Amino acid sequence: MKQSFYDLSYSDLEAIINQNNLNPSVSAILFNWHYKKKETTQWRDKISKLALAFLEKSFDFSLPEIDRVYESKKDRAVKFLFKLKDNHKVETVLIPFNNKYSICLSSQVGCAMNCSFCFTGEQGLKRNLTTNEIVGQFLQAWRWLATNRPGEERIINIVFMGQGEPLHNFDAVKKACEIFLSQHGTSVGVQKITISTAGYIPGLKRWSQEIPGVNLALSLHSPFEEKRNELIPINKKYPLDEVLAYIDKIPLNKKQFITYEYLLIKDFNDSPNDAEQLGMLLAGKSAYINLIPFNPYPGSHYKRPSLDKVEKFKEVLDTFKIPTLIRSAKGDDVLAACGQLNSNN
Ligand code: SAH
Repeated sequence: MKQSFYDLSYSDLEAIINQNNLNPSVSAILFNWHYKKKETTQWRDKISKLALAFLEKSFDFSLPEIDRVYESKKDRAVKFLFKLKDNHKVETVLIPFNNKYSICLSSQVGCAMNCSFCFTGEQGLKRNLTTNEIVGQFLQAWRWLATNRPGEERIINIVFMGQGEPLHNFDAVKKACEIFLSQHGTSVGVQKITISTAGYIPGLKRWSQEIPGVNLALSLHSPFEEKRNELIPINKKYPLDEVLAYIDKIPLNKKQFITYEYLLIKDFNDSPNDAEQLGMLLAGKSAYINLIPFNPYPGSHYKRPSLDKVEKFKEVLDTFKIPTLIRSAKGDDVLAACGQLNSNN
């Protein structure tokens, strides 16, 4: 079977081109056309017949297929359902802001974390995505914008907050980051990529050593171990105090901070006391809090708190001088908001 071109980092490609005695400029040409110009046919005219024959024989240049597109009527969010070669499906969301987009990528088919509030978790883990399936979500979403919203193909931020636990599929996610970061291609700034984790410590260790600079978001959701156990079962194996102690030891650059995501569930973790404890836990850290009011999905048993309650929660955090943002539920009319992704439906 041919290897996917989109599984290769720039240095992987250079090594192959070198081993096969091809002109070293081929690597730059390929990355430039596929990732910078995002044009997948014209590159064939730019290289020698010999190199072309080798590349055609060695690499598969196909990308995951877009199966369905759901456009929000409320905002300009777009949800894509991708069909993979083995017929599994994953979802990707474009989240609009000021005529630009953030892209929310999936890293696994389903998820092993089994969080009690998450639609994806209900599917269980089917398999890890490959690098080409991760990079492919970005390229296909970009192309869809270029065709359907010309001039708007500006995807500025990449967040690994779709289906799956990215740190549980570290190798493929790391390589995808290397491809996004490559100056020969999309050249995304390191501070524009965020990996969100439920607190999987083995992956956290690799993140800090192997892709430092890429931002980290921790799904915190409760300052109390008992409550967090109920929400995020891997907390029993990797408790919050160990996760935080580990994160605290990681050296950050001056402008870097850790995002702490806090899911707000009505009458469960939305009281002033929860906010107070959360504030005490995070005060003094390079922290940024993202409050995410619970997004319901078919069959969910938790409820979303009122906006008033969410604002009161934020007011408590403000007293600790921790920058806090209330995340709005973009795309929720097409089940594209946080935790609403479930490609079985
Ligand atoms: N596995 C990673 C990334 C995927 S989830 C993680 O746990 O961080 C991305 C974010 O959406 C997480 O903060 C997650 O807790 C949140 N989320 C999941 N289900 C949700 C729901 N129903 N409503 C609101 N946010 C949810």
